[in-house]
Formats: sequence, C-alpha cells, structure tokens
Amino acid sequence: MGEERSLNFIEEIVEEDLASGKHGGRILTRFPPEPNGYLHIGHAKSICLNFGLALKYGGKTNLRFDDTNPSKEETEYVDSIKADVSWLGFEWANELYASDYFEQLYNFAVELIKKGLAYVDDSTAEEIATQKGTPTEPGKANIYRSRSIDENLKLFAEMKEGKYQDGEKVLRAKVDLAAPNMHLRDPLMYRIKHTHHHRTGDKWCIYPMYDFAHGQSDAIEKITHSICTLEFIPHRDLYNWFIEQLDIFPSKQYEFARLNLNYTVMSKRKLLQLVEEKHVEDWDDPRMPTISGLRRRGYTPVAIRDFCDRIGVAKRENMIDVSLLEFCIREDLNKTAWRRMAVLDPIKMVITNYPKNQTENLFSENNPEAEGGDGGRELPFSNQLWIEREDFMEEPPKKFFRLGVGLMVRLKSAYIVKCDSFTKDSAGNIVEIQCSYIPESKSGSDTSGINVKGTIHWVSVAHAQTAEVRLYDRLFKVEDPSNEEGDFKDYLNPDSLHILPKVYTEPDLANAITGKGYQFIRKGYFTIDKHSTADNVIFNRTVTLKDGWVKK
Ligand code: ATP
Ligand code: MG
Repeated sequence: MGEERSLNFIEEIVEEDLASGKHGGRILTRFPPEPNGYLHIGHAKSICLNFGLALKYGGKTNLRFDDTNPSKEETEYVDSIKADVSWLGFEWANELYASDYFEQLYNFAVELIKKGLAYVDDSTAEEIATQKGTPTEPGKANIYRSRSIDENLKLFAEMKEGKYQDGEKVLRAKVDLAAPNMHLRDPLMYRIKHTHHHRTGDKWCIYPMYDFAHGQSDAIEKITHSICTLEFIPHRDLYNWFIEQLDIFPSKQYEFARLNLNYTVMSKRKLLQLVEEKHVEDWDDPRMPTISGLRRRGYTPVAIRDFCDRIGVAKRENMIDVSLLEFCIREDLNKTAWRRMAVLDPIKMVITNYPKNQTENLFSENNPEAEGGDGGRELPFSNQLWIEREDFMEEPPKKFFRLGVGLMVRLKSAYIVKCDSFTKDSAGNIVEIQCSYIPESKSGSDTSGINVKGTIHWVSVAHAQTAEVRLYDRLFKVEDPSNEEGDFKDYLNPDSLHILPKVYTEPDLANAITGKGYQFIRKGYFTIDKHSTADNVIFNRTVTLKDGWVKK
C-alpha cells in the first residue's frame, strides 16, 4: 500500500463525476452482501473497492444487507458480516436492510401496475421460460399480459394477503418480449413464498426479485455509484428501466471483474457445502478462503487490504495466484511478528562441557526488523536442548552447514557448538547427539574468532513448553476445482491439514497473545488458534517463510 499507482477505471469515472458536479460532488457507495453465508476474500475485494472509493473521495459507504430471499438468510450471517467488515478496518455510514424497504418496494410495484407496466401472470415457471423465446427468437405474449390494471391491482393485493400458494402467480414487468436482452423480456418482479424471514417474520409472503430490489434500494439510499461484479452487466438495462419508469434517484451501476483465487472455491453455496458436509471444521476453518478463516489462520487486515490493492480493479475475469496473498501476509508479518523458537520435530542435544543444572538467561530481541528490536525476552539456556531432527545428519553431504559429527553451528542467540558423537536406540533411530560448546562464542560478545555458516534454533529441555501445531496446505489439489469434471469436492486435498501434537517451544510462548503473529524461526509465521487453552496450547501456521509450493 501507499505506492503510487494509476487510477482504476472506476476511480476515473468517479473523478469525472466529481469534476462535472454530478450529484453535487457527493459520493455514496454501498456494500450489499446477501446474508446467506460468511464473507470470503472475494467480498474483501468488493469491500476494499466500495469503502476505499468513499474514503479516497470524501464520501460514505452503506452496509446494506440484500435480504430479499427469506429461505437462506440468517442472523448469524448478518453478525459475522458486520464483524468481518469492521475487522478489515472499515466503518459504514448506515446499517441497512433491503427488507426494510419491502413496503416501499410494494408501493413501487403498485405504481408500475397503475402505469400499465406490470401484470400478474398465472403461468408456471416452465411456461414463462418457453414463452420468453430464445436470443434469436422473440418471446410470445400470453393471455395474462393483457389483464386490466384493475384486475392486476386486485390480484397483486391478494398475492400479498396470502390468498395464493407458492408458485401460483407472479408479478412481471411489462417491458419488451422481443428485446435482444433476455432480462428485459417481462422479468419477474415478485414471487410468492410462504417462508419466514429473518427480520420481517411472517409479515410478507411475497418477496421482490433481485432485479426489482437492488436498483430500487440503491435509489432509495441515493447511492451514486453502485458497484458490482461483471455477471450483472446483463441486468444493467433493467436496473435503469425500473429507475426511469419510477422516476426515482438515478443511481448507476458499474461492473468490475470478480476476484478468483486458485486452489480454492469462492462461492458461498460451495463453502456452505464444505461446512455442512464436514470437510472443514466450520466457516472459519483456517483453510477456508473466508475472512474469518483467514483471520483465524493469522492473516491481518493490513495484508488483506494490501492484497486487494495489488490485484487492482479489472474489467476482465482472471485467476489470481494464492502466492500473491501469501506474499502480502509475509510482508506484513515480517514487520510485526515477534521471533520465537519452537522445535517441531525434536531430537535431544546434550552439551557435554556445559555445567549440569546451570541455566543462563540469554536475551533475544523480539524483532530485528523493527526499530529497537521491538523489545525482547529472556531465553533460558542449559546443557540439554531440543533441536530439529533435520538439522543433524549421520552422513552429511558437502555444504551441509548444520550438524554432523565434526561439524559446527551457531545456536541462535547463544553459542557455537561442535558435534562430537550421537547415540542410536536398538531400532537404529538416532535419539541423542552430543556436542561441546565454545564458551567464548556467546552471541553479542563472541571473541572465539570462529566463523560458522549455519545457525539453528533450539529450546532448552528443562524450560520447554509443549504445544500442538497445525500446518496447512492448499484446500484443493487443482487450481480451479469448480472448472473440473464432476463434483468440486472430488478435488479436495486430503493432506490440507497436518497436526503435530507435541512441539517444544521456548517458555515465553506460554504467554502468546491471541491475534498476534509470531515467527517461529526458520519454520514460518504462527498464531494462536481459537481453541487454544492454557493446558493445550494450539498454534496455526499462517504461512511458511518462503513459497514452498513451487518445489512440490
Ligand atoms: P457468492 O457467489 O460467493 O455467494 P455473491 O455475489 O452471491 O457471492 P453477495 O453477498 O451477493 O455474494 O455479494 C456481495 C457483494 O460482493 C456483491 O456486490 C458482489 O458482486 C461482491 N462479490 C462477491 N463475490 C466477489 C468476488 N469473488 N470478487 C469481487 N466481488 C465479489
Ligand atoms: Mg448474490
């Protein structure tokens, strides 16, 4: 963020509108989620765009819940959406609900009936579909299209009163059955649905269609720039038609390319399937592309906003590589994460010339990348340490700058040690390595004159804390699971979660702060999981230190 970049096409439109004095120089955008699931990283793109425009040009943004479809919507989703937008760092001007406009929308519909621009149709969904024709063939009018205004008013009122069953009748706009744009061929405005609504309860049994709710809601709120994704381009003519016929505030719709990210799916419907069929723990499973999943995984609002900024605003669909998202979180955590030591796959090192029962409290900075190291912590050192199994080799190849008999390394923030010998159990597994340390080589006051190439991390056995560590990989094995043959769930990566039940960490990690990022030196960035307790500390790996995917 902060780097100079050229204007995106929506900013250009906004600047032209501001320059021409349109809407009196006022900018009002909205973010209009349907509360039928948790927000995902694609929504973050839309949020950053809508709120970002308003912030940049001195405007405001409404949070509007597009809750016109009663069957799939829930208050739980409303609450999660609000939490996610706030967490991303944005403040909405007004919290609004399309359902608050049901009365007004009903009156708009009556107005169109009175103008001869809407009619009640008794046809079934199939009949309506066939009567609509095809892109090369005009649609045909049915007998209901010529119903009188009075009859339409009466029938529509009866629909509202609950006289008819679901599907018995619909209200349609009378636009143009020969229009090249199929959306203009007498689109549905209202359908009957005897379903409880999360806010209006059982007050309504007719609900407006998206096309008759969205533009009207925009106009009611006097939204100046209604920004949506490309799939709404064919809806734009109808959006404008309703606004013109009703002679209401002339909101305008602008479309940009939705964000697609590889190795995941980005539709609430599909994410809901993963949750319901228990392929993941919940909406906030750290492997999910949801905002809540990313947060639990250790992503920060700064990184997500930076990502949205870097991908830009395009007019054509494309696929963004998830490694860009990972790059953004590494960038941020490198600046803020406290460095700590944790041994994920332990083997014991005994320092034979270090006094038994002696403990030395070494000091180590929290973050050498930060001003003044961002403070520091004490690091107990003793004669028995845990180190990573992979840092020792029985027969090390050339240029192995870690441990093998006769090789030397620096123990991070401590001493240089030399490996003298190792011990195997009866099964032939290496169980312990023996080293001697160089007393003059202490970090910060090294007078040994010895240069070693490798530095490894360690944890004192007597002082170690234990923790569970969860390592994550891509949720799917293929780049675009939605575009593969068969069911997208056939392409789930069976190894997307790897649990290490017992990891040794330096003692300070017993005080790890929820929500904070930690760099486990050489092992990646980690954060406390929401299920972590004092007795059972759990860390999620947010991301590795380098992109490891390419190698696989
Ligand atoms: P989904 O298909 O995932 O259910 P949706 O478009 O139905 O998404 P809405 O709740 O209607 O979800 O979306 C709210 C806003 O977020 C809309 O303006 C929509 O265009 C935008 N949006 C949704 N998905 C993306 C995406 N992948 N990239 C950018 N914007 C998106
Ligand atoms: Mg939608």
